[in-house]
Amino acid sequence: MVDSTIFEGKTAVYYTLGCKLNFSETSTIGRTLRNAGIRTARKGEKADIIVVNTCSVTEVADHKCRQAIHKLTRRHPGAYVVVTGCYAQLKPETVSHIAGVDVVLGADQKGDILKYLDNLEKRQTGTAVTSPLKDIRTFIPSCSRGDRTRYFLKVQDGCDYFCTYCTIPFARGRSRNGTIESLVKEAQQAADEGGKEIVITGVNIGDYGKTTHETFLDLIKELDKVEGIRRYRISSIEPDLLTDEVIDFVARSRAFMPHFHIPLQSGSDPVLKLMHRRYDTALFANKIQRIKEEMPDAFIGVDVMVGTRGETEEYFEDAYHFIDSLDVTQLHVFSYSERPGTMALKIDYMVSPDEKHRRSQLLLNLSEKKTHAFYERHIGKEVVVLAERAKAGMPMHGFTDNYIRVELPHNNAIDNQLVRVRLGQFNVEGTALIGELQ
Ligand code: SF4
Repeated sequence: MVDSTIFEGKTAVYYTLGCKLNFSETSTIGRTLRNAGIRTARKGEKADIIVVNTCSVTEVADHKCRQAIHKLTRRHPGAYVVVTGCYAQLKPETVSHIAGVDVVLGADQKGDILKYLDNLEKRQTGTAVTSPLKDIRTFIPSCSRGDRTRYFLKVQDGCDYFCTYCTIPFARGRSRNGTIESLVKEAQQAADEGGKEIVITGVNIGDYGKTTHETFLDLIKELDKVEGIRRYRISSIEPDLLTDEVIDFVARSRAFMPHFHIPLQSGSDPVLKLMHRRYDTALFANKIQRIKEEMPDAFIGVDVMVGTRGETEEYFEDAYHFIDSLDVTQLHVFSYSERPGTMALKIDYMVSPDEKHRRSQLLLNLSEKKTHAFYERHIGKEVVVLAERAKAGMPMHGFTDNYIRVELPHNNAIDNQLVRVRLGQFNVEGTALIGELQ
């Protein structure tokens, strides 16, 4: 039992790097600390506790984590420093030796942060508390408020796929999830607080149900019944786990939006094999076709990685043509980054940084062309937009059901409201369509 009187009047700052999952977990950690009497430090105020939730997706991410720790310890001298997240789980010893760090918590410990704050007495050298990968079993539920309209509901954690380039399974452990019952409760609570939109997050969401013997389809069917939540978006789902039943349900559901985010990673079959991905281009093309048959206006975002080991010039050309042929809306392009301990390092063929950059630019241009054409097709249509709060005097923004960004004149009365809008031309920056309230 933690003696919470030692926390009274103390303050904390939080710093998060990486994905939406990390952000939603930091928000849960923040809630735990607030419940113990530790309030969030105001801007410019010196904090007693620093919490850094790290990421390790690339070499650059590791570097940013170290930089963030240095910066925060300088800004809050004498604060008790807790570091958690993927970099902490992967490199606990390295992180515990960074100047100022007191405790490093692994994936299994971050839900229990209060236990590791001791008496907030600073240590000579940091201590690392992590569990071996095979023992990481805890599912830390979290539903964080992105802003007033959007919530991020974590439904699953970890991954059993072991793609050759990825360190996530080593950082987050095996696939596990919350029960449908508990997740529906979280969604209901978000609705009670006035939340209208929930983004369903996880590491490998389609794998939902491993630990509770439930299915992703059953989960989304139950979430769809939560009154008050008007919109759900599925943050990212592996193509082999995006079943036809899930696509059909989304098409007919009350609140699941015609919006998909599917990682392709490579449009070349030999490269997909080298990556140990569990599908080929034919399956991927088939999923896109099915979505478009059921929901012709669906927004489809696709992750693509360039310059992985083994991606020869010829394979990249094939991949480019395949991606060009797909009826998708946007590409999220990542450059391959070498990660210690991954199987990809055994593949001999390497792509130079300049060539990675060239490939990345080609795909970014293709993405822009596709997104522009998609937006253009919608000009003149009447749609529903969920308007989001903006600073006084600034234009408001919001998204249509199929994720088109819309710019609206400032109007406090429509904040967090679903409004009917006619779509006009692109805004000056070319980042949204101008909407006219109907
Ligand atoms: S599916 Fe592959 S890329 Fe995605 S988290 Fe799992 S191992 Fe990593």
